[in-house]
Amino acid sequence: MSPVVGTRPKPAKMRANTTPALPCDWRGRLASRFGFQLAIRGQPARLLPGNIGAMSQPAIYYFDNNATTRVAPEVVDAMIPFLREQWGNPSSTYVFGRQVGEHVDQARARVAALINAEPREIIFTSCGTESNNSAIHSALVTQPEKRHVLTTAVEHSANTKFCALLQKRGYAVTYLPVGPDGALDLSQLEAAIRPDTAIVSVMWANNETGVLFPARDIAAICRRKGVLFHTDAVQTLGKLKIDVRALDVDFLSLSAHKLHAPKGIGLLYVKRRVKYQPYVVGGGQERGRRGGTENVASIVAFGRAAELAMANLPDENTRVRALRDRLEDGILAGIPGTSRNGAKEPRLPNTSNIAFDGVEAEGILMLLDQAGICASSGSACTTGSLDPSHVLTAMGCSAARARSSIRFSLGIYNTDAEVDYVLEHLPGIIAKLRANAPGG
Ligand code: PLP
Repeated sequence: MSPVVGTRPKPAKMRANTTPALPCDWRGRLASRFGFQLAIRGQPARLLPGNIGAMSQPAIYYFDNNATTRVAPEVVDAMIPFLREQWGNPSSTYVFGRQVGEHVDQARARVAALINAEPREIIFTSCGTESNNSAIHSALVTQPEKRHVLTTAVEHSANTKFCALLQKRGYAVTYLPVGPDGALDLSQLEAAIRPDTAIVSVMWANNETGVLFPARDIAAICRRKGVLFHTDAVQTLGKLKIDVRALDVDFLSLSAHKLHAPKGIGLLYVKRRVKYQPYVVGGGQERGRRGGTENVASIVAFGRAAELAMANLPDENTRVRALRDRLEDGILAGIPGTSRNGAKEPRLPNTSNIAFDGVEAEGILMLLDQAGICASSGSACTTGSLDPSHVLTAMGCSAARARSSIRFSLGIYNTDAEVDYVLEHLPGIIAKLRANAPGG
């Protein structure tokens, strides 16, 4: 496999079947395709563990923690005062504002401590997407003579879509391929660094398969070659220890909603003395590196979540890993025609991506949803057609396999009983779908 320069490898456009593309109403489409009744789930209401506000909700078995995580009750408690009472602007000169600014500083110190950074190396952003865009943008703006970005074919769209935009603006982008297990060839990466490479941007953990790239080794190559290195560590956060000093990375992106904090808050770590040009320009917030009045309550929430994450890390790597393994082993052993996508190791402790031969992921997701189970597929529904996951197709999976794959991603709130529930219901769901498949 040779790196693809200039154009992102486009996954083959998948049509759901021979019927013309429909609006993206996959539930309706599937119901008619598979002949299922679209039942409104009539399950007995169950209180979620530690449910806030004692509102009863239908039972949810949440296995989609790579999409987002439940906001921890402690995090909600921490942010509420900044919505109710302490709503001042941290840039204001009077005490009512300045006090709020102190809480922003405290949160900055907390998230910095989680990743072994200095507080001044943290720029709060609106999300992981903004952080990725900002890092690449800064590398290009501060080195105008360099017009090449080196990345991989399996990055999140927060990276690849930005790179595609750069290409339209005349920049060159190389998308490194991966092997069938999702791994990168580091000698290929090193060889692809050019004299005009402004930045190497490679994710640490893949959001779909959980496969880990050797971020530290990539950083060492970049250091040797004198090129900036950015890693998207959005999925690593809270699951593995992040130490930016040990990693020796120039830029690192994080997003709080993967860490039991709210959506809409992220950060970009910028190593001290690395030149930085802001992406969002306006007021002088974030020491002039990101304009816009701070999202104070969410920043405070991020800080509190970072504190909790320090305590929860061992649980992610022991209990959550064991739950994930029991779920994965149970599916692979208990349901014929199943196999894992991506290497078993090195992998995030919470993620499992499984192909179910002969069944479409959307059908599985629909029936899982009816059973109250939340999981996901990498397929994107755009303008009525189904694009198979670009991650799985880059790994060499056939379009059919990519379209029959489901991601389960666990978290600290999952229990043994919930894994049992999935293992109890999934075999019947797959059998039902296979029996209803054309020729089944
Ligand atoms: N990078 C990765 C690997 C992700 O998984 C995600 C979100 O799922 C993002 C970036 C984007 O983060 P955000 O939703 O905060 O923009």
